[in-house]
Order: sequence, then structure tokens, then C-alpha cells
Amino acid sequence: MNRIAVFPGSFDPFTFGHKVIVDKAISLFDYIFIAVGNNSKKNYMFSINERINRITAVYNNIENIKVISYDGLTVDFCKQKNANFIIRGLRDNADFAFETRIAMMNKKLHSDVETVFFLTSPEYSSISSTIVREIIKNGGDVSKFIPQI
Ligand code: ADP
Repeated sequence: MNRIAVFPGSFDPFTFGHKVIVDKAISLFDYIFIAVGNNSKKNYMFSINERINRITAVYNNIENIKVISYDGLTVDFCKQKNANFIIRGLRDNADFAFETRIAMMNKKLHSDVETVFFLTSPEYSSISSTIVREIIKNGGDVSKFIPQI
């Protein structure tokens, strides 16, 4: 059986913190959908196309990673793609507390889906898309935090 996983997120923008999670996960799964959230109620800095294009540029030549937009429940997207795993990244206790609650709820919604957590690498533990957006808004250099395309 193929191990198909979904890595859902806003990726607004996709950072080296997100990349390290995908890079760790790809050795464990046969196929990863990087599922880019497109929630009409959220105000993104980068459009859905910009977010998808930036991630696609990073994984251009990797055939078992597909970047795709999604909306609605993550578990419904998993069912649609026959995925049994959700990938999430952890930086600290705050992420752990938040992510375990979501994982438990997803398990209740769809018992065939298991959430798998990957710890970030120490050098990326303080990167967040929120902080990157603040730096961009204030004209700072984010080249250390996001892949350049
Ligand atoms: P969401 O809006 O779904 O939280 P994000 O794009 O903020 O989307 O995050 C997607 C996932 O990536 C989450 O599991 C988050 O904890 C993880 N993540 C974000 N930044 C990092 C980082 N620096 N290192 C590891 N994981 C991270």
C-alpha cells in the first residue's frame, strides 16, 4: 500500500521551517500533497497562485511531491486523495499544545487518518510565516527565512 500524506498549511509564505518538515517527511512517505489552504475568510499576504508557485519552484523536479490548493476540512481533502496521514511541524510546546488538539479532532472526524509530527531543526525553530510577513511589510531582508525563487 502506498503511504500517501497531506501536509496542510497556509504557507503564507512557505518558509525554510516548512521546507525542513517536507524534507524530513519525504523519506517516510511515498507521496506528499502539500495542501495550500485557500480559505475565503482569511486575509493572505500572498495569493493562492503566488503561494503555490513559490512552493512548486522549490519541489519542481520531485515527482512524489505535489503542490495543490484546498479548502474545507483537511480530513475531507485526505479522503479525496486517499491519504492516511497528515503531516504537521512542531517548533515548541505551544505548537505541540495547539497541534495535538487539532490532531485529536481530525481523528474523531476521520479515524483512518493519523497525524504525524516532525520536529523542526534548531536553526529554523524561531521562523514563522507571521514574523516573515512583518519583516516583508517593514522592508526587511527575508532571504534567510524563505527559499528564494
Ligand atoms: P496553518 O495556518 O495551518 O498553521 P502554517 O503555514 O502556519 O499553516 O503552518 C503549517 C505547518 O507548518 C504547521 O504544522 C506549523 O506548525 C508548521 N510550521 C510552521 N513554521 C515551522 C517551522 N519554523 N518549523 C517547523 N514547522 C513549522
